Amino acid sequence: MFIDRQYIEALLEKAKQTPDEEIDRILDKAERFEGLRHEEIAALLVNENPAHLSRVYDIAGKIKQHIYGNRIVMFAPLYVSDYCVNRCAYCSYNCGHSFHRRRLTMDEVRQEVAILERMGHKRLALEAGEDDENCPVDYILDCIKTIYDMKFDNGEIRRVNVNIAATTVENYKKLHDVGIGTYILFQETYHQPTYEKVHVAGPKRDYEYHLTAFDRAMEGGVDDVGGGVLFGLADPYFEVMGLMLHNEHLEERFGVGFHTISVPRICRAEGVQMDLYPHLVEDATFEKIVAIIRLAVPFTGMILSTREDHDMRVKLLQRGISQLSAGSSTEVGGYSKREEGLSNPQFVVNDERDAVSIISELMDDGYIPSFCTACYRSGRTGDRFMRLAKSGHIKDVCLPNALMTLCEYACDYGNEQFQTKAAAVTERELARIENEKVHTLTQANIEKIRAGGRDFYL
Ligand code: SF4
Ligand code: SF4
Repeated sequence: MFIDRQYIEALLEKAKQTPDEEIDRILDKAERFEGLRHEEIAALLVNENPAHLSRVYDIAGKIKQHIYGNRIVMFAPLYVSDYCVNRCAYCSYNCGHSFHRRRLTMDEVRQEVAILERMGHKRLALEAGEDDENCPVDYILDCIKTIYDMKFDNGEIRRVNVNIAATTVENYKKLHDVGIGTYILFQETYHQPTYEKVHVAGPKRDYEYHLTAFDRAMEGGVDDVGGGVLFGLADPYFEVMGLMLHNEHLEERFGVGFHTISVPRICRAEGVQMDLYPHLVEDATFEKIVAIIRLAVPFTGMILSTREDHDMRVKLLQRGISQLSAGSSTEVGGYSKREEGLSNPQFVVNDERDAVSIISELMDDGYIPSFCTACYRSGRTGDRFMRLAKSGHIKDVCLPNALMTLCEYACDYGNEQFQTKAAAVTERELARIENEKVHTLTQANIEKIRAGGRDFYL
C-alpha cells in the first residue's frame, strides 16, 4: 500500500536533521515551480527556522501569483441527502445522531439549484452521505442530470463536482458518463489507527477501500479527482505526507495526481466533542501547511471552504488557495430553508455573508472572482489539463475567462455599485493580457456580454 505509517513517521523524524543547505536546495527547486517530492516536503514541514518559513511564504506567494494570478474560482456546495450509515465521530450527520433525515426530491433539487443560480453560481459541489438504500448512485445520477438539464435566463450550472462515498469502478463509470466534473473524496485522515478510531462503524471504516477509491475512479474513466484531509484528526504533518504520497501514487499509476486538494479544519458542529481531538491545528501551523502544499504541487487547485472566517481566508489566499465557496449552506435543502430562516447544518459556517458580499470583498482585496468552468467544457481534464497547466499557458485562458465570467456575473447579479467595481477590475486586468489577439477577443466578448451575449470562454 502506498501509505506506510512507519515510513512516514520515520521520515518526519529523520527530516529534522536536514541541513540548511539542503533546505535551501529544496526551496530553490520550489521556486522554479518544479514541485517537490514527499521527502523534500517532510524536510520543510519539520523545519522551524523562521528565515526558512519566511522564504516558504515568499515562494508560495510567487507561485500563486505566477500560476493563478489574482483569480479565485468560486463554487458552492449542494447537499442533496443526509442519510448516512456511517458513524464518523466528527460529523453531525453520523448515523448515531437522531434527527429527521431526508433526501431532496428532483423538484427540491431544482428549487435549490434555482436559488444557487440566483446567487450567480455556475460550479457546484454535490454532497451526500453514504446510504445505498436511501441514496443509491442512481439517485445521484438523477440529481446530476436534473442539474445539467436546468436552463435559466442567465445561463446554467456548468460544472457539477461530486463528493460522495467511495464506490465501485462500475459506479464511477456511471458518474463519468453523466458528466461529473471533479470527483472529490476526503481521506479524512491518512493515519490508520486514527482513521479506525474516528470511523466507528459503517462501510467507511474500511481504510483501504476508502484509500483506493481514486484508483477505482480513474479506472472508471474519471479524469479529475480531488483529495483532502480533515485537519485536526491526526498529526497535521503526517496528514500532509499522506496527501503527498497519495498524489505521487496517482501520478505514477495514472500519469496525473490530484486536480484539487481541499484543506478543511475541524470546527464546531452539533454532537461533535471538540476535546476528542488533540490535533486541532492552530492558525499559524495551518498557514504554514497551506504554503508548503502550494510549493509541493504548484499546479493543483487548493480549495478552502466556508468553515474559515474572513481573516483566515484573506491570509490563506495569499499562501496558495485558489478556490473558495461563497454563500454556502451545508444542509440538505439549506438554501431554501435559509430563505425561510431555518437551518441545521453539517458543520458551522464561519463566514455567513451572502455570496455577493464575499465576491465584492474579494474585488476590494484585489482579487478577480472567477466563475469559469471552461476547461471541463473544452475537454481539458486529467492529464490534458495538467500538461497545459505545467506548460505555464493555462493562465493565458484563465484570465480572459475570469474577466468574461465576472462581467456576466456583474451584469446578471450585481447592483450598480457592484457593476462599477467589476468594470474597474476588468479594465485593470484587461491591460494585463499581453497577447494582442487574446486581448482583442476578450474585450470584444466583454462588450458582447454587456450587450446581452453569454457564455463565452477560451
Ligand atoms: Fe456520513 Fe460523510 Fe458524515 Fe461520515 S462524514 S457521517 S460518511 S455524511
Ligand atoms: Fe479553471 Fe480552466 Fe477556467 Fe482556468 S480556464 S479557471 S483552469 S476552468
